[in-house]
Amino acid sequence: MTTTYSYACKEFPGMEACPGRFYAETEDELWKLIELHAAVAHGEDAATWPAEDRAQLKALIKTERAEN
Ligand SMILES: [Zn+2]
Repeated sequence: MTTTYSYACKEFPGMEACPGRFYAETEDELWKLIELHAAVAHGEDAATWPAEDRAQLKALIKTERAEN
């Protein structure tokens, strides 16, 4: 049983044009990918994100379970 955590940047309001899409085995790893992407692609510093932005982003994280 493997869980895949995924996030599509374009689902965040204002990011509709971004093709960035990330997959990871843990939510911790996914956050790292999202934060790195935000820095490289959008020039954002994740350390400055307000709690409500993080909550909104967290709500967009999808989990998928696969039997294997
Ligand atoms: Zn993006």
